[in-house]
Amino acid sequence: MIMEPLRGGNLAADLPGAAPIWSQAEQKRTPADWSFQWLWSQPEVSLVLSGMSTLQQVEENLVSAENSRIGLLNDAELALVSKVHETLAGLSPIDCTRCEYCLPCPSSVNIPRVIDYYNRAAVYDDLEGTRSSYKRLVKDDQKAINCTQCEECVPKCPQNIPISDWMPVIEGVLGGSQPYQTEEP
Ligand code: SF4
Ligand code: SF4
Repeated sequence: MIMEPLRGGNLAADLPGAAPIWSQAEQKRTPADWSFQWLWSQPEVSLVLSGMSTLQQVEENLVSAENSRIGLLNDAELALVSKVHETLAGLSPIDCTRCEYCLPCPSSVNIPRVIDYYNRAAVYDDLEGTRSSYKRLVKDDQKAINCTQCEECVPKCPQNIPISDWMPVIEGVLGGSQPYQTEEP
């Protein structure tokens, strides 16, 4: 059962990194339809719970569901999906795999979550939307602002991410109004 199949609608947008790849497909689909068809192609997926806010979205999703089946996407289409995935992942400035080895943080910072929000701003090219989500959806005691620079997390990260250096950057950008930074601090 899949929740948030479009990541809060982000995957339904015409993402700059994905559009040129989708255009290579013989069968043209909307970004939302690509996401749905990939999910419904998986034999283990039985239910896709997608939020819809307009009648048009309901109608499009019904058409998408009616046209779906397990294994629908052919090898060429699956290769395009992989290419989009790699391209979008490559836009992330912080190479976090969300392994959670850095947790628990003694100051309760949810390190993988705040990094994920930071990466999303670049991947979905939506800094203002991500700022708003970060402020609303990440609990105050889990935000990067609570980092005390103890550096307990740093040696635990298999990706060698300078977590303690990123935390003030993330808070300044997502919790404040500092410009987005892609270079490692
Ligand atoms: S450096 Fe910051 S994020 Fe890392 S463990 Fe310490 S308080 Fe938590
Ligand atoms: S240990 Fe490193 S890669 Fe793993 S979740 Fe923490 S920051 Fe991300």
